Amino acid sequence: MSKVFKVLKLGSGIGQREPHQKRRRALVAGGAGFLGSHLCERLLRDGYDVVALDNFHTGKRYNLNTFLRDPRFTCIEHDIVDPLPAGLEVDEIYNLACPASPPHYQADPIHTFKTSVLGSLNLLELARRSNAKIFQASTSEVYGDPFVHPQPESYFGNVNTHGPRSCYDEGKRSAETLFFDYSRTYGLDIRVARIFNTYGRRMQPDDGRVVSNFIVQALRGEDLTVYGSGLQTRSFCYADDLIEGFIRLMNAPHAPAHPVNLGNPGEFTIMELATLVVGYTNSRSKIVHRPLPIDDPRQRKPDISFARDNLGWEPRINLAQGLAHTVDYFDTLLYGSRMITGA
Ligand code: NAD
Ligand code: UDP
Repeated sequence: MSKVFKVLKLGSGIGQREPHQKRRRALVAGGAGFLGSHLCERLLRDGYDVVALDNFHTGKRYNLNTFLRDPRFTCIEHDIVDPLPAGLEVDEIYNLACPASPPHYQADPIHTFKTSVLGSLNLLELARRSNAKIFQASTSEVYGDPFVHPQPESYFGNVNTHGPRSCYDEGKRSAETLFFDYSRTYGLDIRVARIFNTYGRRMQPDDGRVVSNFIVQALRGEDLTVYGSGLQTRSFCYADDLIEGFIRLMNAPHAPAHPVNLGNPGEFTIMELATLVVGYTNSRSKIVHRPLPIDDPRQRKPDISFARDNLGWEPRINLAQGLAHTVDYFDTLLYGSRMITGA
């Protein structure tokens, strides 16, 4: 066994399959993260054997608690920048491995870039060897600070190549390039989702993204830190809706010829979000302003016509419902079960 990985928990999901084994096997890179753990859970529910690969940079073992004992689940501690464990045989690959929160992806920008580029290469090679279908978690960040609003998939974006966000934005753009080149060159079945801001249960209190920051600050009675004027906008999708979009995209009979936007088109200013969170938490916290980070996009809203028309997908959980669930999750995580909202 290579030194670069450690099997944390062995189920039936690694290595060559017995001839009688019919269940499909999915690999989830980034499986211990916020979205990755929800995806593993969903795939297990759908009858897959699941192998999670994760370097636990931002992922947590306790995200896996509800299904860790499932014999069909295997977890391997591994950095996808390094050569993948030998002997992996899978039918489907989901690449979610990459820190997604600005403070986390900027902490080691070179490794973030390598994760998107070298990590994607390693997984694409595995897909080629195994003849597996492969999914890439791309991002609305490929649109940068957009001049077209809302953003359709056909918009090429407005991205700074050399700012502090570039390691993430340009890494994800490069990964998209690799995915489409592998498809054209080797006929690989690829699915690329451009994910817009998503929130929900299993976010970490120290994640650093706006929804978790505001909820944690409000629950602790601390000031809510709005960066800049707070007039910049984002569109917030609840995690369960997004995972349904992943599954529909992966299982669509034909691979779309381009990346597909997945997100909730409801658009809110950051000030509106702060006000909602203070209200839902019955908090006495004040709203304070902090400097706007460099290259912070001014507006973001997905055009989801393609997903709606071709995958029959659209979000079902609005911001009020999603925030109520997420407030309850953080309240339980931080203080035990006091249930302060009516979710
Ligand atoms: P997250 O930080 O919770 O999850 C990322 C997971 O990948 C973590 O478990 C982390 O430990 C793991 N990871 C990071 N680098 C790795 C590496 N080199 N090798 C192996 N594992 C590694 O973030 P998330 O919100 O769950 O995001 C999941 C994916 O979705 C990311 O690729 C992210 O870019 C993409 N995405 C998320 C959002 C969002 O709003 N949540 C938006 C756009 C794109
Ligand atoms: N933001 C904020 N306060 C925070 C964290 C973030 O006002 O404590 C702002 C941030 O400047 C951005 C928006 O909220 O305008 C969304 O930030 P996040 O990091 O969640 O996602 P991204 O910028 O990647 O869309």
